[in-house]
Amino acid sequence: MENEVVSKNFIEQEIDKDLAEGVYDRVCTRFPPEPNGYLHIGHAKSILLNYGLAQKYHGTFNMRFDDTNPTKEKVEFVDSIMEDIRWLGADWEDRLYFASDYFDQMYDCAVRLIEKGKAYVCDLSAEEIRAYRGTLTEAGKDSPYRDRTVEENLRLFEEMRSGAYQDGEKVLRAKIDMASPNINMRDPVIYRVAHMSHHRTGDKWCIYPMYDFAHPIEDAIEGITHSICTLEFEDHRPLYDWVVRECEFENPPRQIEFAKLYLTNVVTGKRYIKKLVEDGIVDGWDDPRLVSIAALRRRGFTPESIKMFIDMCGVSKAQSSVDYAMLEYCIREDLKMKKARMMAVLDPIKLIIDNYPEGETEYLEVPNNLENEALGTRKVPFCRELYIEREDFMEEPPKKYFRLFPGNEVRLMSAYFVKCESFVKDENGNVTEVHCTYDPETRSGSGFSGRKVKGTIHWVAAPYAKKAEVRLYENLVDEEKGVYNKEDGSLNLNPDSLKVLKNCFVEPGFSEAKAYDSFQFVRTGYFCIDAKDSAPDALVFNRIVSLKSSFKLPK
Ligand code: ATP
Ligand code: MG
Repeated sequence: MENEVVSKNFIEQEIDKDLAEGVYDRVCTRFPPEPNGYLHIGHAKSILLNYGLAQKYHGTFNMRFDDTNPTKEKVEFVDSIMEDIRWLGADWEDRLYFASDYFDQMYDCAVRLIEKGKAYVCDLSAEEIRAYRGTLTEAGKDSPYRDRTVEENLRLFEEMRSGAYQDGEKVLRAKIDMASPNINMRDPVIYRVAHMSHHRTGDKWCIYPMYDFAHPIEDAIEGITHSICTLEFEDHRPLYDWVVRECEFENPPRQIEFAKLYLTNVVTGKRYIKKLVEDGIVDGWDDPRLVSIAALRRRGFTPESIKMFIDMCGVSKAQSSVDYAMLEYCIREDLKMKKARMMAVLDPIKLIIDNYPEGETEYLEVPNNLENEALGTRKVPFCRELYIEREDFMEEPPKKYFRLFPGNEVRLMSAYFVKCESFVKDENGNVTEVHCTYDPETRSGSGFSGRKVKGTIHWVAAPYAKKAEVRLYENLVDEEKGVYNKEDGSLNLNPDSLKVLKNCFVEPGFSEAKAYDSFQFVRTGYFCIDAKDSAPDALVFNRIVSLKSSFKLPK
């Protein structure tokens, strides 16, 4: 668009300044997940932000696994994370890194700090360290081991590395300032003993660096310029700067924090999702009710819709929570013009056209998407016996009900006018068949203008229809009660978050649908073929989102 004023977010403004002042002559960003779970919509924000900045500034984007803590990390997560990031469209090209590849350099940095008198080995227990640390209002106390000589520290640290000590027996601490108003600066632990195998380095190490020490070194080694992270690390920035300065990196990276993305009434925490998976409440990390990237993909969200959503959320320093309805808005917008609008009957009853010749079938030409001619047309069989939605017939209609009831005429979408003549009920009083007559003159596209009807309903031809299972999703959380139970911190679950309809009928054209393909079902919503459970002769659809929305675009 010409003359469009593109406003820049605060991070872009900072980058512009750094480039103008010559602090950096290029932009290099990274996404640094810990491989200890699946990525979720919040991570998508970080990925798209970092990748987007690299693109915008013709810089580079690194994919780096922050795998410095062997306790919780697994190869399974490494693979899923890469798949998700690729799917989102963030391309790290050949810039794939693992923090564990830098363990030697991190060790060397620690030795250098000891040599400079900036780090010491401490024998206090974790508990004692905590007690010595002080509080927000009270300065900390020096460790009795703070004044060990450089030689002693070098020897002890080497012994830590060679396995002479048990877990927790000794740590290496940065020597900064026990009276600092910032607790993170009160001689933080930078290395700990942990006799654990690492998923990449095996048993080579029995000491591992702490996050606050490792992360700035990882960034510096890779030549990252702008290390973008979330707000909870703001108080750690002085330590980040201390590490890169004291380790004497040239042209060190700069940390910038932004607010995390939160969705109202949606669970994102790994701890909670893990429990839902383990308790069998959801069907794995990709259960379509979750907002992990894998779950959103399985539900039928597209990378484009997620990008649109993240763009709409913006980047800021103010913590806020976004309505899930905005994500739904984005997927509707994305699919609206792209997807064929097909007919599917979710709660079927039979409609029989008594005056339509028995045994005859005609193929009607139906446009795939009235708003997008480029999607072409398809042939849909039409015959004497159809399925329609149960709710499209009423024996005794209320006012303003324009669908089928005895004596009323409606249009069968893309087909003919039919008039309800009679109906059949079973012994329980449920309607099982609606009998109609049709008017051959009223065929869709024939230019018929004799009379008008007020209702149009969809249908599928019974002998040709494919039976399908349709899964309708609602929020996993009880929105009235909120996400967390105030008493015990557990989740307030919505018992009706999944509804499975097993007796649905869809057009025969669906037989070619593949995993992740999505469609509009006219009048009901957008649906996606379930990648886990659907088979060509036993289709399973996930409802991505209904057609209607209460969401209003912010002005
Ligand atoms: P969680 O505990 O929610 O799963 P995490 O912070 O432990 O998240 P990491 O693997 O450490 O997960 O995160 C990788 C990157 O993603 C970090 O830079 C982190 O700041 C960012 N990130 C995590 N959650 C969000 C969020 N909700 N919004 C934006 N960025 C996020
Ligand atoms: Mg983390």
